[in-house]
Amino acid sequence: MATTLMRNTAPKEHPGRYYGFQAAVSACAVIGAAVVCVVGGTAATGTFDVPFAFWLTAGLALVAELRPTRWGGLWMSPIASIYLVYVLATMVTWGFLPAIIVQSAAIALLCAQIRATAWRTVFNASQQGLALVLAWFVWNAVADGAVWTGGAAQMLTIFAAGTVWTLTSFALVAGRQSLRTGAGWPGLFWQWFKSEWALRATQVAIAPILATAAMASWWLVAASAIPIFAVYRILQTAADRERQADRDPLTGLLNRKGFQQVVDAKITDATETGTTVAVLILDLDRFADVNSALGHEVGDQLLVELAQRFRADKPPGKAIAHLGGDEFAFTWSELDGMTDPLECAREIRARLDAPIVLGDASVEVDGSVGIAVFPDDGPDFQTLFRHADIAMYESKQRASSFARYAPEFDHHSPERLLLLGDLRRALDHPDAPGVNLFYQPQVRIVDGEVIGAEALLRYSHPERGVVNPAEIIETAEHSSVMRMLTERVVDIALRQLRSWNEAGYDLRMAVNVSVRDLQSPEFTDFLTGRIDAYGVDAAKLQLEITESALMADPRRVVVNVQRLSDLGVGISLDDFGTGFSSMQHLRRLPVTEIKIDKSFVTTLIDDPDNAAIVSTTIDLGRALDVEVVAEGVEDEKVRKQLEGWGCHAGQGWHFAKPMSADAFERWMADHRREQ
Ligand code: C2E
Ligand code: MG
Ligand code: MG
Repeated sequence: MATTLMRNTAPKEHPGRYYGFQAAVSACAVIGAAVVCVVGGTAATGTFDVPFAFWLTAGLALVAELRPTRWGGLWMSPIASIYLVYVLATMVTWGFLPAIIVQSAAIALLCAQIRATAWRTVFNASQQGLALVLAWFVWNAVADGAVWTGGAAQMLTIFAAGTVWTLTSFALVAGRQSLRTGAGWPGLFWQWFKSEWALRATQVAIAPILATAAMASWWLVAASAIPIFAVYRILQTAADRERQADRDPLTGLLNRKGFQQVVDAKITDATETGTTVAVLILDLDRFADVNSALGHEVGDQLLVELAQRFRADKPPGKAIAHLGGDEFAFTWSELDGMTDPLECAREIRARLDAPIVLGDASVEVDGSVGIAVFPDDGPDFQTLFRHADIAMYESKQRASSFARYAPEFDHHSPERLLLLGDLRRALDHPDAPGVNLFYQPQVRIVDGEVIGAEALLRYSHPERGVVNPAEIIETAEHSSVMRMLTERVVDIALRQLRSWNEAGYDLRMAVNVSVRDLQSPEFTDFLTGRIDAYGVDAAKLQLEITESALMADPRRVVVNVQRLSDLGVGISLDDFGTGFSSMQHLRRLPVTEIKIDKSFVTTLIDDPDNAAIVSTTIDLGRALDVEVVAEGVEDEKVRKQLEGWGCHAGQGWHFAKPMSADAFERWMADHRREQ
């Protein structure tokens, strides 16, 4: 695992200080051990006339490390060791030198198993050697050369010595870590302490029991191995359980918590080495349909099957997570061998290619992948995750298979968040000023009769003045404010429509609806309620839908649009011709009208291609029996050309710009007089 290997590397900055620290720790350990052996006499060096109990103790200390427990946290020590109990017991029974030899041998064994480099092994042996030196001084201050008898004073002293050993070791490891990563020492020390104190305290508490056993007979040492190994097993089970807490029970992949831990560790490694880490989020399309059509059990089976596909040979990610629902996440870093994050996205997509066979059913799966890469797209997990999510959403909207995050996808820049907040406040109070509608007439081309109006949002911000409606929609669309906004727009527009109808104007009202409105069925309910409340004819309402709205989640949107159409309201395809699959939408939706986008209309006189597009669209409308409205009619030449092609209606500055309701009424009166 990269984390383990990374612990073997030195930081790019200040390697001198890093190595200097380790050399100093090693020197102190060697000198300290020498001093102890000299001043401590045989109480320190032992007699080497050691009984079988010693060999048994030493042997057990090593056996304990033959299968080290992988400890839960990836960040902290990756394994749990229990030789401390044997080392402390050896020290108080047979002296310092035998203890440090046992300890160093156990460390060497352990380090070999986790593939630590030689100098890392030396550092570990040194820092724990130094810890043992200090522990011996504490022990010797009270015991003063006496052997273990198990008296109260000795008991307390062995606890004190064990505590000193533990704290010294934590302090030195945190020091090395701090020099390696640049993180603050106190924080690191505290993290070590929190994750390991219980394990160490247990061993320190058992040490006197083992020492007493060792003094009595070797078979008591053998017998005491059973409770010690039982403790070890409990630790192992606890570590396993901790690992399970990071897993998704359905698929066996990581869950969000586990995924975050892995990504955090990768970011730490990448920071040190100046490399990159990619976070990818996959969201399946139409998974809800699978669930509702085939049942949740089949839906679950599909997820399990997919998880297996992702895990199969050369997985497209070093860690894979199921985030719940139909979302999966992947991470890969340069250190793991990633060369191009897009390659990873392609590989993920490739695994969706073949249909999934579940019993009799064969299900086609599709999905979009969003990519965010450390450090360019974010400094930490939270940001990367959010940005990958935004990129995924963007890729869905564009109907492409994957997208890498770009700041312009982010609809939550600080200015936009402020705008959103102000807009929300303006919408919270029904009478608060700021949110208004302008109306632009829609005119029948042949005779100039006004057939209706398009309601266009105008928001005047207290400081910024009138904000471009496209910016407002883009900002609000990704939040719950969009619903409030549409509800307000519908409310004002329907009230205005009733008032004009009562005044004798036979007009229809066109209202723009956004992607978000069409994704939930609630909008239909809301609209039904409002149409009833204002007592207007549903057929007088025209809902304008843009193609981008239809691409976000076509199936769900189609269902909702059908329900809206069933209400009797007209459905208009706005900005027609600018999307990817205009024809398909025409076929699948209950469309009553096409609005040709103004980019084709304004220039149709000088641009033969645009002229061809507009005239063909008008023909298409006729053939399909839907009305065609040309947007962006800016002059008489265009109007005349549209009349020649038989276009039904037009909208644009040639007739009138969008205006307030009062101005619209005055304009209507003038317009009628002119006719
Ligand atoms: P849209 O629905 O295509 O609206 C037509 C846009 O073209 C309006 O821009 C209108 O002012 C502009 N326009 C009209 N005649 C001409 C012309 O002759 N030449 C040119 N160059 N432009 C013309 P506006 O008001 O800035 O609105 C922009 C877009 O914002 C709208 O495009 C619509 O997609 C969206 N929008 C506006 N109000 C709402 C709303 O209440 N809800 C939602 N969801 N979207 C809205
Ligand atoms: Mg429109
Ligand atoms: Mg339009």
